Amino acid sequence: MDMLLDEIQDYDSRYIMQTYRRTPVAFVRGEGCRLYDTEGKEYLDMLGGIGVVVVGHNHPRVIAAICEQAGRLLHTSNLFYIEPQAHLAKLIAERIFEGGRSFFANSGAEANEGALKLARKYHYSNGESRKKVIAVSGSFHGRTLQTLSATGQPDKWEPFKPLVPGFVHVPMNDTRALDEAVDATTAAVIVEPILGEAGVHILTDEFLKAARSACDREGALLIADEVQSGMGRTGKFFAFQQSGILPDIVTMAKGLANGIPIGAVIANERCSGALGPGDHGSTFGGGFLACSAAVATVDTILENDLVSNASDTGGYLIDRLQELEGSCSSIAEVRGRGLMVAIQFADRIAEKVFSGCMDHGVVVNRIGDDIIRMLPPLTLEKADVDIALAGLADAIEGAVE
Ligand SMILES: *Cc1c(COP(=O)(O)O)cnc(C)c1O
Repeated sequence: MDMLLDEIQDYDSRYIMQTYRRTPVAFVRGEGCRLYDTEGKEYLDMLGGIGVVVVGHNHPRVIAAICEQAGRLLHTSNLFYIEPQAHLAKLIAERIFEGGRSFFANSGAEANEGALKLARKYHYSNGESRKKVIAVSGSFHGRTLQTLSATGQPDKWEPFKPLVPGFVHVPMNDTRALDEAVDATTAAVIVEPILGEAGVHILTDEFLKAARSACDREGALLIADEVQSGMGRTGKFFAFQQSGILPDIVTMAKGLANGIPIGAVIANERCSGALGPGDHGSTFGGGFLACSAAVATVDTILENDLVSNASDTGGYLIDRLQELEGSCSSIAEVRGRGLMVAIQFADRIAEKVFSGCMDHGVVVNRIGDDIIRMLPPLTLEKADVDIALAGLADAIEGAVE
């Protein structure tokens, strides 16, 4: 262990499928919102592992839950009852709907896969074969073949055709197109209330309400993909709660267990009975370790009111960014809610800004040529925002020189 960065890079280049464009940094330790690399350099983590590390790195309560569980029991299969899974399902139901039931998987893609299978089975049980699912252009729902088919990014489809049929994409916030697309053959509408991978685009209340009422009109199910926007990140526990709608199915994953792999799909009373014994399952899903970590994570979010902190500190972050936008012609737009934020540049400077931020010890995420995204831990403080903004402003200045 304790390899140097160039040794790790050498192994990676020889033995790892090259599916990721990696930054030449290897972190070895984390503490709260701080990360430390192989050289001992400290960074402010404004990314949280793509929105995963919601209660901060090395959180004592999550560590204790993992260690305690690891020392007791790791796996028995879903052929037997699993206490932390039952406990977690109750905690989640209490956040969304009474009578809601969960299924646990291991990732966001798998959670969405489960939601889409559930929607098909629901209509099948009602004696209907509904083949159409409406999704949003630009959306991201995962990398399995079905969730790739749901993902509204045609450039990602080409090498993997044939896709799973039945997906129809409508432009973001085009209420009329959505309304026209939903008909009696529609099984479900799937939406990210805030499109994350596309660059933090907020779906309007009007669009989400139209999705709800079109589904009601045609008997279709509304699925909210909260894999990125859930767990308090946007200043509500789930982003859909900002717009006064209630989906039938909600998926989550990224922030649910602070870094231990997990995915969850929760469905309301109307459709949660659709999947019965043998219809769906997972060897690892809902295991002891992941569910214990998730219970500790959710308890920490609730007890420390990190949802309010996401709203307060996120509001401060967005204010400060808008201030910077006012004095900096390179910033075209600041988008976001709570601690889910993107900076849209007027030019293709995101790579340079990203490098500049890393040099300043601020970890952010570049999306495409002209967007920087921030999804920091929900424990972020205003003083951290000031540090991040100083680094970012310098990085932008350096990028346009
Ligand atoms: C990340 C993400 C997924 C996929 O999650 P994985 O755990 O990578 O499979 C799905 N939907 C949204 C909105 C995401 O942000």
